Amino acid sequence: MTGAVEVKIRGGSIIAKYRDKTFALDPKAPVNSDYYFISHAHVDHVCGRLKGNILSSRETIILAKERGYNLPDPIMLEDVELYDSGHIIGSRSILIDDKIFYTGDLAMRPRGFLKAPKLPKAKVLIIETTYGHPKYLFPNPATIISKVNKLISEMYERGVPVVLCGYPLGKAQLLTYLFSTWEPIYAQENILKLNETCRILGVPLKKLKSYHEAKREGLLEKRPWILLAPSYSLRSNLIKVLKKKYEAVTFYFSGWVLDKKIYNNGADYSFPLSDHCDYSDLIKVVNFVEPEKIFTVHGYAKEFSMELRKMGYDAEALFSSQPLLKEFYKSD
Ligand SMILES: [Zn+2]
Repeated sequence: MTGAVEVKIRGGSIIAKYRDKTFALDPKAPVNSDYYFISHAHVDHVCGRLKGNILSSRETIILAKERGYNLPDPIMLEDVELYDSGHIIGSRSILIDDKIFYTGDLAMRPRGFLKAPKLPKAKVLIIETTYGHPKYLFPNPATIISKVNKLISEMYERGVPVVLCGYPLGKAQLLTYLFSTWEPIYAQENILKLNETCRILGVPLKKLKSYHEAKREGLLEKRPWILLAPSYSLRSNLIKVLKKKYEAVTFYFSGWVLDKKIYNNGADYSFPLSDHCDYSDLIKVVNFVEPEKIFTVHGYAKEFSMELRKMGYDAEALFSSQPLLKEFYKSD
């Protein structure tokens, strides 16, 4: 409790109560609340059965629909401000009456068409801590991008096709934006569909040819080429075939690749290009917001809250969970 603010878990969802109103923050189920905030359209943040007052970006509602979640149109509230959270297209953080700031998934570093978000000051901070452990320190995205381009160039010189793998919503659009200067470049159908929706939403993405079309037209025989594929396909038959038939190599992009103990999805090359804050960014966010009370959620919530307490902050983990392996590839 801080003044009139109360934050608790109900039915597995974060509920922030301010004065006489409740806000369910990225609820996992249709919990009873006055308002429902949906930070972005990743499936671990969207509950499709919500009927009440939705606070969200228009982009998130459209992208959620694309993924099979029909949500009511979002409303606006006088005392509520949504901030860009820099995570994926349409992602937002929420500031309730200048008091409670919930980040949702957050990334502070500009990447391609995603800009560095602005942060408010707030008394209560509820912060995602996916990478809230000092072992997660990401290099500058520009350094990673230049390494990837150099490696693609080396592959192209040798006539080797490259498969770029990332999470289909968010990372795949970023990879499209960053690497579609290379020709020819193809993409798998579900990435093309999401790219098209994002293009309608104003993201400047080049139109790519579909993998199936390229295959039908015999274009895969003309090496090299680039294929954009979802990260979950890394162990699929398709990738096995592409490796065997065309000697393709796979590139994978995620913050998790920094942890060799838990990460092994068989990619040939891995790059820690993440759509989240790393440990140092999380500390910077906390210091900037200057909260009196901090709640940590997701990933290294317990460890990060302990670090914050050592720094003198009043911090506690809302979900005291080590990241579980099954969570790793939901959002990276
Ligand atoms: Zn996410």
